[in-house]
Amino acid sequence: EQEVAENRKSLAIRVSGFDVPRPVKTFEDCGFAPELMRAIAKQGYEKPTTIQCQALPIVLSGRDVIGIAKTGSGKTASFVLPMIVHIMDQPELQKEEGPIGVICAPTRELAHQIFLETKKFAKAYGIRTSAVYGGMSKLDQFKELKAGCEIVVATPGRLIDLLKMKALTMTRATYLVLDEADRMFDLGFEPQIRSIVGQIRPDRQTLLFSATMPRKVEKLAREILSDPIRVTVGEVGT
Ligand code: ADP
Ligand code: MG
Repeated sequence: EQEVAENRKSLAIRVSGFDVPRPVKTFEDCGFAPELMRAIAKQGYEKPTTIQCQALPIVLSGRDVIGIAKTGSGKTASFVLPMIVHIMDQPELQKEEGPIGVICAPTRELAHQIFLETKKFAKAYGIRTSAVYGGMSKLDQFKELKAGCEIVVATPGRLIDLLKMKALTMTRATYLVLDEADRMFDLGFEPQIRSIVGQIRPDRQTLLFSATMPRKVEKLAREILSDPIRVTVGEVGT
């Protein structure tokens, strides 16, 4: 325990919550399958970044996480890699419809970046990823979602429009990510986020990532996550 605490301290990781898994040092420590290890190596990722060292084992254990670390620290792979594992753990993958993993991001640019990062790892497994955000044809997105996908990366407004159009159902969604939660609040997406969360089964795994953690974001996190572990890397303002 002492050693784990010192290891966290040397990495400038702070955690709160009960039964926190210890940080990993390598991607091998995460127990990823060979295909996923190859995809990681292909990206040139040699070892996990600091936030990944602590967030990966927690997310892989199925716990809810509040992850706070500055921009550029590698938060995306902290939720994308365990999402691939989560999806591959589902029986009879192609038989049901609707996404298993749902990722919300504040802007189309960010949604697109997450989409690209996700595809790098999802492709090797034949996992279908769709991106839905404003500025692209709603009808095309409707058709794409109707054809089926395992992961959807979306801005909140567009996702709600498509849910209303019944382009997708959330019946098999069990892995929800709210990325850049602080910016989603700044852009006024709180009602949309609450609506989306309300349409996903409560026994889901929920992850919330942010560069800062203002009180209103903390409050939402406490409402929609279950027994979350909070992981902070470095000095982070509110
Ligand atoms: P954040 O979401 O925290 O702002 P990103 O997830 O966008 O950060 O990652 C920032 C950059 O670091 C991206 O270009 C990404 O490909 C790269 N990256 C992520 N994880 C690793 C890693 N383990 N090793 C090397 N580069 C990485
Ligand atoms: Mg990010």
